Amino acid sequence: MERSKSSNTPNPAAQGKVAASRRQPNSLLTATAPAANRYDTILYLVRQTTGADVVTLHIDGMPPQPVPPDLDCIQAPLVHQGQRFGMLRAYAQEFQSGAAHLLAGFAVLATEHHVLWSVAQIDMLTRAMTRRAFLSDLGDAVVTWARGGTPCSLISFDLDHFKLVNDTYGHALGDAVLSAVAHVVRAELRPCDKLGRMGGEEFAVLVIADTAAAIEIAERLRAVIESTTLREHPHVRFTGSFGVAGCDEGFDDRDALMDAADARLYQAKTSGRNCVVGPRGVESGTEGS
Ligand code: GH3
Ligand code: MG
Ligand code: MG
Repeated sequence: MERSKSSNTPNPAAQGKVAASRRQPNSLLTATAPAANRYDTILYLVRQTTGADVVTLHIDGMPPQPVPPDLDCIQAPLVHQGQRFGMLRAYAQEFQSGAAHLLAGFAVLATEHHVLWSVAQIDMLTRAMTRRAFLSDLGDAVVTWARGGTPCSLISFDLDHFKLVNDTYGHALGDAVLSAVAHVVRAELRPCDKLGRMGGEEFAVLVIADTAAAIEIAERLRAVIESTTLREHPHVRFTGSFGVAGCDEGFDDRDALMDAADARLYQAKTSGRNCVVGPRGVESGTEGS
């Protein structure tokens, strides 16, 4: 059994052969911090079957966890496609026999659980949130607002004439554009704001801000997309059309907010594309181009 005293750094030998693959973090698995209670059942089962007093699960990228003093520690890595992305640790005065073996099995279970959860949360191509995950967070933000909390707004945008990009340069380059757009948009957002891929070449941003601020953010996003180029294909240009709606306009329900943002996005398309439409109509961009 791989053991170490918990007052020391946990025994790296238990990380086994995968230690060499730690150099590159797995962006799928570390893109979003999971809720701590997501693994409660697994941690409970580890305690029950190994005799552990304390069990922790650490996903890379999360803050370090406190180490209980003066207990033996056994650990098993969480590994996906050859990459270590976390560690399951158990601490006890005395472990039951076979504890290390059981812990390794639970680490596999926790890995599968985390991979499935990540796939449901994160779009593979763009690393944006999936539609399902985004809608859930949007719903929560609107409820928070309706209960007297901070305002939130929805920015919906859709890339312009994207079929033409695919038809002209091929689907792979279209994919590269989608990925680049998500990358530059995310770089413009604050950590509290969220980007979702709603389907195809349509995205949405949840901003914790009122409508006026969201319109300014949308204009920044419109401008950054317009000025983005792919390093190896600098001649390929792309733009997006934006619709913005905010809770502070009186929308206190997620679907009403989405309907308003979608209607304004449609208006942006019919107003010439590459522009931002808010409650007062076209707010900025290149109307009529
Ligand atoms: P509009 O300005 O009116 O939005 O025109 P559009 O061409 O962008 O819209 P349309 O709905 O006609 O075409 C959307 C295109 O997006 C067609 C589809 O093949 C492409 N698309 C959707 N998902 C993906 C994807 O994951 N990768 C690539 N490369 N293309 C995609
Ligand atoms: Mg489009
Ligand atoms: Mg579309």
